[in-house]
Amino acid sequence: MTGQWSAPGRVNIIGEHVDYADGLCLPFAIPERTVVEVTRRNDDRLRLTSAFENGEFDGELTEIGPGSPKGWAGYVAGVLWALWEAGHPVHGIDLHVTASVPLGSGLSSSAALECAAAIAVDELFELGLPRTELAKACIRAENEVVGANTGGMDQAASLLATAGNAILIDTRNGDTRQVPFSPADAGLAVLVIDTKVRHAHADGQYGQRRAAVEESIALIGSLRDADLAAVAGLPAEIRPRARHIVTEIARVEQVVALLEEGRLAEIGPILDASHASLADDLEVSCAELDLAVETARVAGALGARMVGGGFGGSAIALTPLDRVDAVGDAVRAAFGAAGLAEPTVRLSEPSAGAHRDGRSLWRHRARPGCR
Ligand code: ADP
Ligand code: MG
Repeated sequence: MTGQWSAPGRVNIIGEHVDYADGLCLPFAIPERTVVEVTRRNDDRLRLTSAFENGEFDGELTEIGPGSPKGWAGYVAGVLWALWEAGHPVHGIDLHVTASVPLGSGLSSSAALECAAAIAVDELFELGLPRTELAKACIRAENEVVGANTGGMDQAASLLATAGNAILIDTRNGDTRQVPFSPADAGLAVLVIDTKVRHAHADGQYGQRRAAVEESIALIGSLRDADLAAVAGLPAEIRPRARHIVTEIARVEQVVALLEEGRLAEIGPILDASHASLADDLEVSCAELDLAVETARVAGALGARMVGGGFGGSAIALTPLDRVDAVGDAVRAAFGAAGLAEPTVRLSEPSAGAHRDGRSLWRHRARPGCR
């Protein structure tokens, strides 16, 4: 059996750097998708190829494990390994990646690849697993086989998101809830600005911030339950880090309340406050991200903030539809004037989560005599 499956990347509206601290985050699935063509094999061989990355993997299921295979194939092979480890009857596949979320732009091409592979394998081997179980396998693939230290937001968004909604993820217990988010209906758009910058010290800085947050938790308990009075009692060097977590979780709650009341246009100042907190308290922004958000605001965005781990990557700007071109032009011009490479500006509408492509055709074929 052969088929084609796809899964989207994601962007996070708010709730940044809180997934390792029992926090809430609110991503939506972007229109860009990773597409895989997959054939079920009758043996345990894996043949993995991609139109986007060099290096074909041709090996056996038994060769997969932590650190193996190396490179991009680990994201796919890791999903099969995690499902097999969990006791599910998976076997070999031939898989080819034919389309992709932009790689390494902070839009989560890694989770899109894992999730597209996961729903393909689930269907081809008739596992019938809930998407929450598939998400767990994708997270294990990334953490254990690839060895990337990431939370579960990307996989939940790619597998569970629906068009016209953001998905509220409670990282304390894994609960999710759809939250209406349809910028176009409010005359708005979310622009995703990829600065194309990634500072070399990003990973080390991420680890330091995480360590400071974990130290805070050891002293005052879960920051989900902490208030600013408790944070004020922390040692000065870790206090601002914890303050970001506590205030950011509160901002997610404020945004969700506004969205559920249909007041989408009012979330702009909360996005601005999130950026200020990431820049001043957590200190994970950089000159290029600050330039992107400040320029977007001056050109008419209602709110803007950096997204992702920081020290480069992307920013988002909530922009009136009639200011979209002006904001994009202004950001490109500002980067040009600063001698920086031209950023990519994309318009992102909340889109569907992972699914089989061309399902109606497949059903039609599967039911002969049906017109
Ligand atoms: P992001 O998830 O933000 O795009 P990551 O560094 O987490 O960035 O993941 C990017 C990596 O995922 C790539 O370097 C590659 O190994 C793998 N990857 C993602 N999409 C594809 C694809 N279409 N084909 C092959 N590998 C891919
Ligand atoms: Mg990733």
